[in-house]
Amino acid sequence: MSTARLTINLDALVTNWRNLNAMTNCETAAVVKANGYGLDAGRVAKALATAGARNFFVAAAEEGVALRRALGPGPGISVFSGHMEGDTKLLKEFQLTPMLNSLDQMLRHFEALPGHAFGVQLDSGMNRLGMEPAEWAAVRDIALGQSPVLLMSHLACSDEPGHAMNAQQLRTFVDMTNGFEVPRSLAATGGMLLGRDYHFDLCRPGIGLYGGAPYGDAVPVVQLDLPVIQVRDLDPGESVGYGNTWVAKAPTRIATVAAGYADGLHRAMMNTGVTTYAGETPCPVVGRISMDLITVDVTALEEVPSHLTLLNEAQTVDHLADAAGTIGYEILTSLGHRYARTYQG
Ligand SMILES: *Cc1c(COP(=O)(O)O)cnc(C)c1O
Repeated sequence: MSTARLTINLDALVTNWRNLNAMTNCETAAVVKANGYGLDAGRVAKALATAGARNFFVAAAEEGVALRRALGPGPGISVFSGHMEGDTKLLKEFQLTPMLNSLDQMLRHFEALPGHAFGVQLDSGMNRLGMEPAEWAAVRDIALGQSPVLLMSHLACSDEPGHAMNAQQLRTFVDMTNGFEVPRSLAATGGMLLGRDYHFDLCRPGIGLYGGAPYGDAVPVVQLDLPVIQVRDLDPGESVGYGNTWVAKAPTRIATVAAGYADGLHRAMMNTGVTTYAGETPCPVVGRISMDLITVDVTALEEVPSHLTLLNEAQTVDHLADAAGTIGYEILTSLGHRYARTYQG
């Protein structure tokens, strides 16, 4: 078999949820948008529901439908994009709770689905989704009259604890929501780490559950093992891969392993110190990353194993992200569809 193995440790995922939950005095939900950050929203949510999570967030109604099918009735499923045209049937049939983002969405919701649960997303400064303070002030009495289940907002800079934007958004959110008897939510993973002031009634971590920064204490959730297809010995002066970018300075043993940029291993990771592992021994990636293949210097090994590991405890999605000039979120959501996926736990 020449497809790489992606192992997803659901026990580690649950551990991350429990540890984040233990930092709060409030409810901890789970964000499973983009198919659970690429790891299968259904499996992720089922594991977390068993551990005690009662509310889940997705980006679009269609994701909510897939999640409801996996979870069955019971757990709450909320939709960040709110109530878009064409969503009504899905929201109703699959008991999804839209987070309404505008007056337009509010009117659509109250007319199409009177009495159907909803929340309101407020813009406390990020200027991405939600109602701005003036808009909210104009419509909030109508909204509050229909009993929203949640008032929420999102932080723009929560991965930088010292950033002045955090306190500024906190103040704006408090101003917009104080005095109403409605549960509130402001914090994603980064916001949870800013402290209790940011927690309110419900926290909504995503990336921390999947083992990524800014949750430094996260347990890694994914392991990626790449099969070795071929091994060859190079003389000094011989080159490896497209463009001859890597040239052997000494006698070198090269392994060709199956996985490439079509599997989410960005070409930008070349010559950045990214390595594979044979057990504890690092075997650096050399030469260009191709569509389906990577070449690895295995000279240090007595014996070349059947697989070399690219993601493990020593090298996490954040290490790959740094090498590629991106963030762990993008590495996770790019993990390839060709991988043979195994779930543990
Ligand atoms: C993605 C997202 C989250 C989760 O954020 P993480 O940084 O992954 O914890 C929470 N709330 C909203 C509105 C989001 O878009």
